[in-house]
Amino acid sequence: MSKLSRQAFLRTGTAAGLATLLPAVARTPAHAQDGSELLLTDAIVLTMDTNRRAFQSGYVWIKNGRIADVGAMTNLGPVPNEVTRRSMTGHLVMPGLINCHTHLSNGIMRGIYDEMPLEVWFSKGMWPVLDALDGAAAEPAAELSILELMTTGVTTCATGEMATANPDVPDGVSTALERTGMRAVLSRITMDSADDTSSSQFIPEAYRETPESAINEVLRLQKRFNSSRLMIVPEALGVLRCTEEMVRAMHQLSLDTSSHFVMHAASSQDERDESRRRFGHGSISELEQLGVLGPKTLLAHGVWLDDDEVELVAKRQTGISHNPVSNAYYASGVARLPEMIDAGVRVGLGTDGASTNNSQNVWETMKMSVLIQKQWREQPSFGSAELALELMTIGGARALHLEDEIGSLETGKKADLIAVDTQRVALSPSQTLVSNLVYSNDPLAVRDVYIDGERLVQNGKHHALDHGAVIDNARSAAATVLSRTGLDSYINERSTWTWE
Ligand SMILES: [Zn+2]
Repeated sequence: MSKLSRQAFLRTGTAAGLATLLPAVARTPAHAQDGSELLLTDAIVLTMDTNRRAFQSGYVWIKNGRIADVGAMTNLGPVPNEVTRRSMTGHLVMPGLINCHTHLSNGIMRGIYDEMPLEVWFSKGMWPVLDALDGAAAEPAAELSILELMTTGVTTCATGEMATANPDVPDGVSTALERTGMRAVLSRITMDSADDTSSSQFIPEAYRETPESAINEVLRLQKRFNSSRLMIVPEALGVLRCTEEMVRAMHQLSLDTSSHFVMHAASSQDERDESRRRFGHGSISELEQLGVLGPKTLLAHGVWLDDDEVELVAKRQTGISHNPVSNAYYASGVARLPEMIDAGVRVGLGTDGASTNNSQNVWETMKMSVLIQKQWREQPSFGSAELALELMTIGGARALHLEDEIGSLETGKKADLIAVDTQRVALSPSQTLVSNLVYSNDPLAVRDVYIDGERLVQNGKHHALDHGAVIDNARSAAATVLSRTGLDSYINERSTWTWE
């Protein structure tokens, strides 16, 4: 990365007005706002602030759910008696991780799609699953995903949820998000294209809806679920899977409701080629022509970008979620991460859903974001563990246009942070701790997770979720969905081993 681009990445920017992005609906737990103060002391602290300050022995002071102060223990002044002190000796404290792209309702679909041939994908993998995965299955599926994400340090995620043919899927996922307390941008996905010239982009009639229906559903969900932690936003699935009318309608809705606008874009070579055939240019260029790139737009994937499209997303301050493990799972190409960083693109990292990854392991995603580039470019000097951690924290906040509120430990920001046990085998010896965190990662080293200063995961246990019950409910939901789709027999038949 050039020095100039490094500076560009360090710029935190102030594009978005957070007052509009985070509507002040009072659903935040009362005790996060009740004036209580908490002081975490004696921790290794990574701030991810503009100067990337880190403290060998530091403190984080939390008041009213926000960070009041961060610094070295040697600079800690008098502490009033009413402040609760918590020693974090043996732990590292850093900003909560930000997963810029997943599909929480796919939590029960992991393992199904491994090496699935394309003809099976369309006949059994995609449309029948959309039929079978309803709100009742989506809720336990989302809980499974959230449990994996939160107990491994994720405090914010962006999740896309398909709502045709089952409009209650986003309701199930939102209910799970409310229960678990995770911060999230939930995009309700719609699609309506009747263009059948490309089998991979074709949408059967049963899964199409009108812009009017999509608008009404987003507004309904916003009214029911929008809060200080959960933002419901519109998503047009893709520029080939939606009509121009639908893309424009969803973008206009995002403007009208001061919310994000989300799309999947430049996800595969097939999409790039089909886009060039239909429009004469790539899908990012088409989005520019439609006028929907901008400072509240988040694009998932962004693998196949031309040089001018990289410049375009940087100029428009559009966020990109780079999903390296998912891209590798589907052999959909290697994203131009170094070029995007050099151009100053707001790029964060995402796992994608459990049906295309298959885990929700953000530590693996961090590691692979760097390793895949090293391998593909035959350039072992590319990147660093520091870069990977930056992409998953402040980079993700910039991609989600929330960098004024989350992504780093700085005075005034929301107290979304995690504590990592530095005594774990995989993180030892500790002289290269930052490298160990990424390249020798141990997701379960995350012990405590705070959102708005509220400790939602303590010593690896989620405060509102019973691990055993989450797994039982997810198994039951998965069995229902698999039997409805016939995928249960597909799984049994694909193994070449003899099972007794
Ligand atoms: Zn996706």
